[in-house]
Amino acid sequence: MRFIHFRNIITSLTVLIFFIAPYIKINNYPILFLDFPNLKLHFLGISIWFTDGIFIALGLIIIILIFLWVSVTLGRVFCAFSCPQTITLNLRKWVKKYTKNNPVAGTLVMLIGTAIGAFGLVSYFSPPSDILQNIINLDLQANNIKGIIVAYAIISAIALADRRFCKVACPYAKFMLIMQSPHTMTATYQFNRDVDCIRCSKCVYACPMDIDLKEGDSPDCINCGNCIVACENILQRLKKPTLFHFSISRKSFTQLPSIALLVVITVLTGVIITLSLTWTPFKVDYLPSIRNANFSYYDGDILVNNYRISIENKRESDESFYLIVRTPLDDINIQSPVYIVPSGGVSVFPFELRIPPSIYRHYSEITFTTYAIKTKEYTHEQTKNIFLP
Ligand code: SF4
Ligand code: SF4
Repeated sequence: MRFIHFRNIITSLTVLIFFIAPYIKINNYPILFLDFPNLKLHFLGISIWFTDGIFIALGLIIIILIFLWVSVTLGRVFCAFSCPQTITLNLRKWVKKYTKNNPVAGTLVMLIGTAIGAFGLVSYFSPPSDILQNIINLDLQANNIKGIIVAYAIISAIALADRRFCKVACPYAKFMLIMQSPHTMTATYQFNRDVDCIRCSKCVYACPMDIDLKEGDSPDCINCGNCIVACENILQRLKKPTLFHFSISRKSFTQLPSIALLVVITVLTGVIITLSLTWTPFKVDYLPSIRNANFSYYDGDILVNNYRISIENKRESDESFYLIVRTPLDDINIQSPVYIVPSGGVSVFPFELRIPPSIYRHYSEITFTTYAIKTKEYTHEQTKNIFLP
């Protein structure tokens, strides 16, 4: 019974977090929000540009690997604890129970529940206030409304398929067929106590997956624990413990796939930390001109080099940059050396260097140094060869 209470608490917390996360803000953004129009992911107060996709990709891989580690070690607990399908079906069952088995009421509540679920899902991509406004205006052309319609159609179709979806179509269930090992936690019948079974079949009636563990362990088991509790309720009248238990041991955690996954998760976490320590908010590059020849002469013997400076600004605000070109002898004068780059933008500015003979006859290199004016601690320096005839 304690297990069922624990399971219900985790399920309720999952639902609560799913629905309130778009309303909890850190640094003015929801704790998880995919801002497609501005090409940004907001996560726990950190804004990641899609151009820094490596962080998003690595983060996603780590989440998937953690999910796999839980599955390899603890079996299909996700299905019983947090799967939206299980939550929707439990809601339907609960309503049917309190409406004296009225199937229409159960289905109606399930369809309303899936509509609220679709709204919750789209709230991770579009602010809930915008969605509500578009619903009130019946703006069917709005992208967030189209998203809700598509999400609602998919979620309700899956929910109406009932447990048949879990048994026949769920990709996670299929995947678990190859992920599960003999050491993965699963509900098991204690065959050595078979003599205590009174053949009441309550365990089978309680199973959402229609499994009879008395016929052997099943890969379809979602570790919901219903059979354990159903048998416990029956046998406690005979002062005997339940005939089922979860087969979990130290080997569940020390088996090779479990350890291999933990190693990969640790390595990838290390990579993400290292990358974030070397991350800079700007990316600066000095490129040859594409409009003009790399070099020409001005006023006889002044060498002209034509460049472009490309600057990417990943800050939340616009930034101005100042470019200085140095040689061992003197700085080279640049016309209009200040560049303004909007937040999230990549801007390219052409510039011309007029290099006197006193420099290019003695030195082959010049050093570009770019300073961010507002973000004072940022400087980018690169040495390039002078374009010579
Ligand atoms: S066998 Fe038991 S633990 Fe597994 S799904 Fe059925 S009721 Fe749940
Ligand atoms: S609920 Fe327990 S006693 Fe009843 S059939 Fe299942 S295992 Fe046997």
